[in-house]
Amino acid sequence: MPATFPYIAGALLLAAGATSAQEQVVNLYSARHYSTDEALYSNFTKATGIKVNRVDSDDAGILARLKAEGTASPADVILLVDAARLYKGEVDGLFQPVKSKALDDAIPAQLHGRAADGSSLWFGYSTRARVIVYDKASVKKEDVDTYEELADPKNKGKLCIRSGSHPYNLSLFGAVTEHMGEQKAEAWLKGLVDNMARAPKGGDTDQIKGVAAGECGIAVTNSYYLARIMRSGKPEDKAIMEKVAVVFPNQQTWGTHVNIAGGALAKNAKNRDNGIKFLEYLASPEAQNYFANGNNEWPTAKGVKVTNPALEVMTGGSFKSETIPIGKVGANQTKVQQMLDRVGFK
Ligand code: FE
Repeated sequence: MPATFPYIAGALLLAAGATSAQEQVVNLYSARHYSTDEALYSNFTKATGIKVNRVDSDDAGILARLKAEGTASPADVILLVDAARLYKGEVDGLFQPVKSKALDDAIPAQLHGRAADGSSLWFGYSTRARVIVYDKASVKKEDVDTYEELADPKNKGKLCIRSGSHPYNLSLFGAVTEHMGEQKAEAWLKGLVDNMARAPKGGDTDQIKGVAAGECGIAVTNSYYLARIMRSGKPEDKAIMEKVAVVFPNQQTWGTHVNIAGGALAKNAKNRDNGIKFLEYLASPEAQNYFANGNNEWPTAKGVKVTNPALEVMTGGSFKSETIPIGKVGANQTKVQQMLDRVGFK
């Protein structure tokens, strides 16, 4: 008996070698870097046997890399945050259309980047809201519960907001342009500039901190940055939450602006079927929990519910979000950038 062991081991090694020559893989370029995403990838491999190879970069880095690599690109699936970037990838021809019944059934129609033939160029897997944070002591909720009021002279000298050209703001302003029309939107942007407490600097978290520090009365942020602070046990974060309150704007009118994190099949995908399997997997309840809840976002797949204590507290259970197709928001960004230049919003 013992004599057969080396033989068996040899046979197993050979078999393993043969398998790895045609190993199933999917190459992922991801702009998301959350610890919960690790579990997401390993569970996909467990369920399908397809290994996930990742290249992590920021959104701009991924788009630049895909362009530079061209047809030689090994990328199969691309994950990006914000509709402004997904739209950019779309117009730069970096994606290919996908027709998937599973994804059509799971992801609401307004969260698809639609190709002319009705197939999809990208899919939104989680949503985040662009909300208003204010100083509880010096600002009244009723003075900041609409985006319009951010530009009202009554809020002069109070507003803190990151750069106007950041995709989060390009998308918010693109949405406002859809809702108000171009002329009013430009006047509104001018009003934001007039109301600034300081020139735009830093990211969304820095704006929240600016309110807590008393430098700003009002700030604009994506909901998950606030949720992170709410869920943090650090004394400095607890101190921030003593000072600030949040409002989901425009509940009486067109609803709060929401954006997405999304995924697409790369134009030159070499593992096309595996890429589609991965995109479909991201809409499954298990993956949605990691993908959305892991970053304090809302899942998009129909029927998927996750309970996130910070988001519950923030919204009181639910809120009204805008209903314009997210693709339109991204498509307005060139127009918005021109308006920003005209009104001097850096
Ligand atoms: Fe972010």
